[in-house]
Amino acid sequence: MPRPIIATIFTDAIAHNIKRAQQVSGAKVWATIKANGYGHGIERIFKGLKNADGLAMLDFDEAQRVRDLGWTKPILMLEGGFEMADYLLAHQLDLTMVIHCPEQITWLEQAALPKPIDIYLKMNSGMNRVGFAPEVYGDAYRCLKGMPSVGQVTLMTHFANADLKDGVHEAMNRFNSATSPLMLGSPHLQRSCSNSAATLAHPEAHFDWVRPGIMIYGGSPFATQTAAECDLQAAMSLESAVIAIQNIKQGDAVGYGSKFVAPSDMTIAVVACGYADGYPRHAPTGTPVLVGGVRTRLVGRVSMDMLMVDVTGIANVQVGTAVELWGQHIAIDDVAQASETIGYELMCALALRVPVRIA
Ligand SMILES: *Cc1c(COP(=O)(O)O)cnc(C)c1O
Repeated sequence: MPRPIIATIFTDAIAHNIKRAQQVSGAKVWATIKANGYGHGIERIFKGLKNADGLAMLDFDEAQRVRDLGWTKPILMLEGGFEMADYLLAHQLDLTMVIHCPEQITWLEQAALPKPIDIYLKMNSGMNRVGFAPEVYGDAYRCLKGMPSVGQVTLMTHFANADLKDGVHEAMNRFNSATSPLMLGSPHLQRSCSNSAATLAHPEAHFDWVRPGIMIYGGSPFATQTAAECDLQAAMSLESAVIAIQNIKQGDAVGYGSKFVAPSDMTIAVVACGYADGYPRHAPTGTPVLVGGVRTRLVGRVSMDMLMVDVTGIANVQVGTAVELWGQHIAIDDVAQASETIGYELMCALALRVPVRIA
């Protein structure tokens, strides 16, 4: 028998969360599926994506994969091209390309495409990662508008702080001031600014298209609001089982480094899940784990293949008892928060060795 660990992907949850993004924003939704669908697997979640208005990603092989799966609606390449040849591929696969730097304008021009492609022109509104500064944004826009390789141009930015209460205020001011002169000339120009946090919390940034990622997978983009409070459903669960029980005495230690010492006599269950499965090694004692339907806590250091939990006083725990590491009952965000990271990282880190089933 294989190790009892298994991940489950809930395509209905993805469909629900996409609908939620559409309803809360009233905008069209680019379901963001970069990093292999935030670790869920593009092929596995594909059924759940069907009502999205478009798919956003950044690897060209992922764009090819969704076209091969039969996706005919728009595809947005969030980082645009990495070299000139990428624009030929964009033309072949009918991709919408972000343009965030002057080099990309040059490559697009050099590609001399037989048919124009649609463009998302990205502004740096304060994150200082990628995008044209507000002062040169209008020039970049006019340059693109004059090129035969360019079809529809959409105005775009990305927020650094949309998870905070007034987190988009400054960026929106920059975006609106630089784009309003362009809007005057072309009132039907489309705009796209919102990630999940802005989709859920900042209506002034919704515009025509939103680009939710984490919320599609049922993760909360906020530190102060749970996914359940946002009416989102978990799209991934990670489950395993108890493979051994240890009855230990007060003063006995558990695991590598003897980091946990029992304050009293305890029962410890050993679970077949470790950091080589994608469980965070930095999860501390106290991180929530569900054992036989009862919420309890991790104790000691997470090993490569196993972790230990406190099952003292929990009835009927034995070898084979089911364990949920995250999913329907234990929010992935709770495990992430305990481990001083974010749900995004845990999803993306689900290890290849974990078998996955689709619910
Ligand atoms: C990843 C990404 C998103 C989605 O962000 P979430 O926080 O996961 O909603 C949206 N836009 C861009 C440009 C991105 O890179």
